[in-house]
Amino acid sequence: SPGVHAQDPYAAPRSALIAELRAQGDTDSGSFTRIDRDVLAVMGRVPRHAYVPAAERDYAYENRPLGIGYGQTISQPYVVALMTTLAQPRAGQKVLEVGTGSGYQAAVLAEFGVQVYTIEIVAPLATQARERLRGQRNITTRTGDGYYGWKEQAPFDAIVVTAAASSIPPPLLAQLKPGGRMVIPVGSSFFTQTLLLVQKDAGGRVRTRQVLPVRFVPLTGEH
Ligand code: SAM
Repeated sequence: SPGVHAQDPYAAPRSALIAELRAQGDTDSGSFTRIDRDVLAVMGRVPRHAYVPAAERDYAYENRPLGIGYGQTISQPYVVALMTTLAQPRAGQKVLEVGTGSGYQAAVLAEFGVQVYTIEIVAPLATQARERLRGQRNITTRTGDGYYGWKEQAPFDAIVVTAAASSIPPPLLAQLKPGGRMVIPVGSSFFTQTLLLVQKDAGGRVRTRQVLPVRFVPLTGEH
């Protein structure tokens, strides 16, 4: 399993990356760009190099996105840290991820003891991630269009969307629990998008906050 490495040649660069993210999180100390220490601790344990193509492995601990094939990327570590912080995963919760990609974000979420349901639209990427994540009992993968969510497993305490939508997909909002949190980049495909934190209160009212300008690959599909 990628979670266990007796002798990890990447331990030092990974620690350096975590230190860099900690410093960045402290500098950007706005209430919505803060990064949780717990999240950094988890990212210090998950081997990002195991989620990238062999040719990219030596760059796995640079704070930038990397290509994973099929025109897709593994997100920048800072963005993973921020989205995970905003999602506030808590043990026992159910979390939906749209855009499995490499499987890295799902693996980070799973470390919090949540049940992760993750959907990927590009079949070969979904298959690869499924192989990689095999043995992680709290991650369930699916190939398909995540725009529609995962009805059978809804509602979710948190939804993390890792591809940019033109607006918040109504099915995802419907599948968010009262009290739940959705983190989603919204905007046009090729220009700057905005990372949104969408919170549904106990009464079902929705409040949206703009967190940060970001750049994600587009949410594709027929919708
Ligand atoms: N979370 C991923 C990781 O940790 O590697 C990063 C994924 S990448 C930034 C976004 C992914 O969303 C791509 O793999 C892309 O194929 C996928 N995607 C795009 N549209 C989708 C859709 N409608 N449903 C599911 N996945 C989608």
